Amino acid sequence: MTWQSPIAPGISWYQASVGDRPEYPALDGSVSADVAIIGGGYTGLQAAFNLSRLGASVVLIEGSRFGDGASGRNGGQLGTGQRAWPTELEAELGYERSKALFDLAENAKHYLLDFAEQHGIDIDYIPGQMNVAHKRGWEKDYRHDAEVMATRYGYPHVSFMDREETGQRVGSTRFHYGVRDTGTGHIHPLKLLVGLARVAASAGAKIHEMTPASAIRQAGGKTVIDTPRGTITADRVLIATNAYIGNLEPVTAAHVMPIRSFIGATVPLDKFPDVLPGSEAVADSRFVVRYFRKTRDGRLLFGGREAYTSDSPRDISSHIRRQIAEIYPSLASVEMTHAWGGSVGITMPRKPFAREVLPGVTSLAGYSGHGVMLSNYSGKMYADMVAGNASELDILKDLKIPPFPGGGRLRKPLLFLALTWYALRDRF
Ligand SMILES: Cc1cc2nc3c(=O)[nH]c(=O)nc-3n(C[C@H](O)[C@H](O)[C@H](O)COP(=O)(O)OP(=O)(O)OC[C@H]3O[C@@H](n4cnc5c(N)ncnc54)[C@H](O)[C@@H]3O)c2cc1C
Repeated sequence: MTWQSPIAPGISWYQASVGDRPEYPALDGSVSADVAIIGGGYTGLQAAFNLSRLGASVVLIEGSRFGDGASGRNGGQLGTGQRAWPTELEAELGYERSKALFDLAENAKHYLLDFAEQHGIDIDYIPGQMNVAHKRGWEKDYRHDAEVMATRYGYPHVSFMDREETGQRVGSTRFHYGVRDTGTGHIHPLKLLVGLARVAASAGAKIHEMTPASAIRQAGGKTVIDTPRGTITADRVLIATNAYIGNLEPVTAAHVMPIRSFIGATVPLDKFPDVLPGSEAVADSRFVVRYFRKTRDGRLLFGGREAYTSDSPRDISSHIRRQIAEIYPSLASVEMTHAWGGSVGITMPRKPFAREVLPGVTSLAGYSGHGVMLSNYSGKMYADMVAGNASELDILKDLKIPPFPGGGRLRKPLLFLALTWYALRDRF
């Protein structure tokens, strides 16, 4: 029977196309380790792999199955740099810190692609990504951003696209102009995750599915994690639960908020050769970003709809199909084969959250929709930090991430109001 994630709605096309997805046993009994990791997405599994490789004993627990969190269900776009453009970060943080964040993201991109290649994980990598404008009025900024990236940031792979080029490459007249990035691309996220779990286990990490942590306690200089059928006692703990933190740990929960995002997959579009003829990925300029791309077998994967409450829409497909038709009228009645959702962890300033939340307990989360490459690399940076090697994690730790206002009770309603306002603004 097809596995239905208990933490996210819908069966993804990724699940249907990933092939062999081995199961790992739940933790049964009490154990100790140098490092315990809670959460088996890219962050947690990369930390487990790298720590094991460096000689640490590691136990990782995943509350559901590997791939049920964002890492197995996302849009697959790697992007470049951080969520904000370098020009925005430079205005806020100055050139040096902005450049350090840019370089960190480039290292993250290369790390991910090299990791997949070295371990023989076929992640369906397709090069090319475009950021396109759904409104007029920002053309100067787009041109400037492309130029600054090429000159001040030493990244020559971006170019400005006028209306004609944008239309031809996207296969739609809906966007006014854009920036094309040939130095990045998109992947099959679940293939990466399944391969990563295999590689982490082979490196010696003890990895367990269906083992939710219910509490984190500190006793006798160690940290103890409670699970249904045993405890883990460790010198260090990594919380890698991202948007799914729930009530497990209050500092992370105050700084990282879940937003639900939904994706639909069409049948292969052999009859529509004009739709993304170069199979590049696209992200538009809305606050509630529409992101789409072609898969290796020619389907359109389209993400856009968001929800700020925990309810799941009953019919994800129809809504996504309407959004597809706004961009591609010829696909108004296209057959959708899969539709699913997942939770993105966002922070107030849309920058990653990296903090020691208790002695020896680090939390990494809040990549704000830009985590495919950053979460993989964050797991690696954490392992380097624990091993005492040079680590770039301090660059993320130094970022100022304030908590969401409103305290435990009001946080979610306030966020709902703010985001609904921004979503409304996208329409004008
Ligand atoms: C629909 C969608 C589209 C996205 N598109 C993109 C994109 O195109 N590009 C991009 O860069 N980013 C994208 N993202 C974001 C990206 O997927 C994430 O930033 C990244 O996968 C985060 O990885 P992670 O390991 O930190 O978290 P996750 O992959 O979410 O893993 C956290 C894990 O922790 C587990 N967990 C939670 N609580 C417990 C507990 N108490 N005990 C044990 N385990 C627990 C969860 O079950 C989950 O598996 C998207 C996200 C979504 C949902």
